[in-house]
Amino acid sequence: MAAEVLAEAGVDVTIYDQMPSAGRKLLLAGRGGLNITHSEPLEAFLQRYGSARSHLADVVADFDPNDLRDWCTGLNETTFVGSSGRVFPESFRSTPMLRAWLRRLDSQGVKLRVRHHWLGFGTAEDGRPDGTRSVFTDADGSTVEVRADVTIMALGGASWPRTGSDGGWVDEFIRCGLDVAPLRPANCGVRVGWTEEFVERFAGVPLKNVAVGVGSPSVRGDAMVTKSGLEGGPVYASSSEIRGSLDRDGICTLVVDLNPDLSIDQLAERLRQCRRPKDSISTWLRKGRFAPVAVALMRECTGNQIPADPERVAELAKLLPVQVIDLMPIDRAISTAGGVTFDEISGSFMLHRIPGVFVAGEMLDWEAPTGGYLLQASFSTAVAAARGAIVMLFE
Ligand SMILES: Cc1cc2nc3c(=O)[nH]c(=O)nc-3n(C[C@H](O)[C@H](O)[C@H](O)COP(=O)(O)OP(=O)(O)OC[C@H]3O[C@@H](n4cnc5c(N)ncnc54)[C@H](O)[C@@H]3O)c2cc1C
Repeated sequence: MAAEVLAEAGVDVTIYDQMPSAGRKLLLAGRGGLNITHSEPLEAFLQRYGSARSHLADVVADFDPNDLRDWCTGLNETTFVGSSGRVFPESFRSTPMLRAWLRRLDSQGVKLRVRHHWLGFGTAEDGRPDGTRSVFTDADGSTVEVRADVTIMALGGASWPRTGSDGGWVDEFIRCGLDVAPLRPANCGVRVGWTEEFVERFAGVPLKNVAVGVGSPSVRGDAMVTKSGLEGGPVYASSSEIRGSLDRDGICTLVVDLNPDLSIDQLAERLRQCRRPKDSISTWLRKGRFAPVAVALMRECTGNQIPADPERVAELAKLLPVQVIDLMPIDRAISTAGGVTFDEISGSFMLHRIPGVFVAGEMLDWEAPTGGYLLQASFSTAVAAARGAIVMLFE
């Protein structure tokens, strides 16, 4: 995106990427339906960036969700708003858009050099990093030095490293004296110490229409039991809070509401109504319309001590404590928290310490839930960095 904005301004641009082709994470993101942005009002949209809101508000407003949708239309991909307010391209995938985009960049004269692994900046005579020189290894393994008036770094986070974003740039940035908050998994599943019996029967079974959260079960959706824990939208949306709790206390209790449509009283009443003296707890709860996986989860989380009293069961089902051991590893996370801190960059996304070098996308220290907020901020910061670079080049 930065390359396109620069090329439109008449700048001679070359993109370097270490992978054999460009946009691999964008392609991966399109596999489950490319959620390019969100249609909610801008103020609500910006809240999704949490503590980074103040750093991203202006740039997301300058290249906003409507601009991004227009841009997609310009690539023959009209967008539509899904039932949840999320925005998708008509084809639902990234492939047609990426193909059209690479063709357009090519017609703008943008050169693409793949299999070029960025190693670091050249060193100036005074020993400081020289932002006008970048050192790569090329496809043959040879070291090449490239000179540029301006450089925009958009090397991504560290999730799904096989798409190319492997966080390998962090050490070089730190060596250059730049402050980089550690890269951590975001929008990811959690590890739970399930018993063998639970895993055998329920790994791969969804917990339909539940709510989960830290403290209170606030995020609704379907969660999935896996061999090692829990995955799914509401778990991903809680992952930042879970990370905070693990960092602070070393443990985290995720609370699950197995029936967010009913209050405790309504649920207790239903359980009272279907109670028969001879029924086992499992039969009783099944009649109370709890799925087998939900009953098993109640057993799992109480050490097989499900109470016999309808009130107590209702309370348990509405606030079921699941002990989280850890987040799932970063290589399977959807996105990355941490990165180059905002103190290191100017309002135009240029590094204070290395003039002429701009930073954009997920390698910056922000995070957001899924819903299109990740790609929107990646695109918006790229536009901002390119506009900053243009000012520097032409002023
Ligand atoms: C499974 C999955 C699904 C997703 N779905 C969505 C979604 O629907 N909606 C959404 O908003 N977001 C989604 N995301 C997140 C979104 O894809 C990312 O936030 C976004 O791609 C980040 O863009 P970026 O340009 O900052 O980094 P990336 O897209 O990661 O690109 C970084 C590039 O830098 C290159 N690179 C890295 N290091 C070097 C080096 N040393 N030398 C040379 N090149 C290097 C990489 O090869 C890569 O091409 C998803 C992510 C995943 C993993």
